[in-house]
Amino acid sequence: MKLKLFNTLSRKKEIFQPIKPSPVTMYSCGPTVYSYVHIGNWRSFLMADFLRRTLEYFDYQVKNVMNITDVGHLTSDEDTGEDKVEKTARSEGKTAKEITEFYLQAFLKDGRLLNVLPPNALPRATEHIPEMIDLVKILEKKGYTYTIEDGVYFDTAKLPSYGKLSGQKLDEKKSGARVKVAKGKKNPTDFALWKFSPTDTKRQQEWDSPWGKGFPGWHIECSALSTKYLGQPFDIHTGGVDHVNVHHENEIAQSEAAYDIPLAHYWIHIEFLQLQGEKMAKSADNFYTLEGLKNKGYHPLAFRLLVFSAHYQSKQNFSWPAIEQSQHGLEKIYHFARRLLIFSRGKNENSEEVKVEFELYQKNFKKALADNMNTPQALAVLFDFMRDIDKLMNEQKLTPPQAEKAYQLLSEFDQVLGLQIQEKASQKTKIPNIVQELVEERESKREEKEWEEADRLRERIKTLGYQVEDTINGPYIFPLHLD
Ligand code: AMP
Ligand code: ZN
Repeated sequence: MKLKLFNTLSRKKEIFQPIKPSPVTMYSCGPTVYSYVHIGNWRSFLMADFLRRTLEYFDYQVKNVMNITDVGHLTSDEDTGEDKVEKTARSEGKTAKEITEFYLQAFLKDGRLLNVLPPNALPRATEHIPEMIDLVKILEKKGYTYTIEDGVYFDTAKLPSYGKLSGQKLDEKKSGARVKVAKGKKNPTDFALWKFSPTDTKRQQEWDSPWGKGFPGWHIECSALSTKYLGQPFDIHTGGVDHVNVHHENEIAQSEAAYDIPLAHYWIHIEFLQLQGEKMAKSADNFYTLEGLKNKGYHPLAFRLLVFSAHYQSKQNFSWPAIEQSQHGLEKIYHFARRLLIFSRGKNENSEEVKVEFELYQKNFKKALADNMNTPQALAVLFDFMRDIDKLMNEQKLTPPQAEKAYQLLSEFDQVLGLQIQEKASQKTKIPNIVQELVEERESKREEKEWEEADRLRERIKTLGYQVEDTINGPYIFPLHLD
């Protein structure tokens, strides 16, 4: 089965063809570490993780890189405004390094809680200043740059292909551009490669360069880092849709002007997570963090599942009922996995085996992912599978080898879902004495055939957060909710 992905560059779904058989090289624009990353940002990073896992599911070995922006990201995309890190450092009375280290660690912690596979490299911009300077030197030598009062700029009019990612012509971009642009820019689309330190204030992060003391423009870091760690061209570049027009267009311009070869073959863009119909954004103070979700009792993996439930090219609305439903979905999956484990250990008492089409579920799951990573469709396959198997378990028709096989298939799906199903299903839980006693009482009522009383006890156990499953090996108790 061939994997198809929608390439922003060609504006169509294409069969994925890697440059080399192995590894597939993938670059994702990472966070700017001046504040907590919000769950909107996490949607874009989680989608990159799902894409990596999907590639691995299709038997590719993946090498992926994500940059950490710890300098040079200004409050405006127009090369004006303040450096976000410097601004936060000043307002919090800390050093720039303290700020970036703190928020980087918070980001990494969130990533672990969300079970994001660690990228093969997580390079920081500040540790690659010489590489960025070298790239600007190449561009200068090839005549793509000019210097004005506040920095060295890329002249977009010199590159005829400029605008190919967004499909906008330079003229359209000019007329559409916002008015506030750096003084002296030749074209509104031109962008800073190197910014000079201001003369009136002292920056914390600044470096010497052939053009004067200063700091790199935001876009240059991704060009320098991707090429350093993955080579050029590499296979896949990911990021949020907001990057199509400016940031990614500029990355392409720098890298392709410097080396006369494509930067990346496939450009994958992730739509926004929204709050009440508006883009979730730090600048609009319209956001939640993972910590905020946890404080309200939601498991990070419930958010992971929520992100999986919408296609990456569709806008997704975040709401409390939606995360609530996702948390129930997650509990249902873990519950199902635990039941499968119980059934797989049971005795095979059924002589007549009902046929289960495991291969069909497997094929449909893969088919959904092959179609431009259709995660909601893949999830629908998983829930169909759970419903059908659950029914067999309820009717005591699932044999232990079938339960074992279903568990294996569920674990296989989890290679992409990343919900840590195996860990959760086999986790030992301490059952409180009161629940244990109620279960024993229920057993004796069942022996005495006092079914109503037994059912009442089962409900009581449920209200305490536990479920009893009657198996051929006796009652099995497990928690209904996540810790
Ligand atoms: P930043 O830290 O602002 O550079 O953003 C990091 C990543 O998050 C970028 O790829 C953005 O495109 C992406 N992003 C920002 N806001 C959202 C949102 N509301 N939904 C999805 N992705 C977002
Ligand atoms: Zn980038």
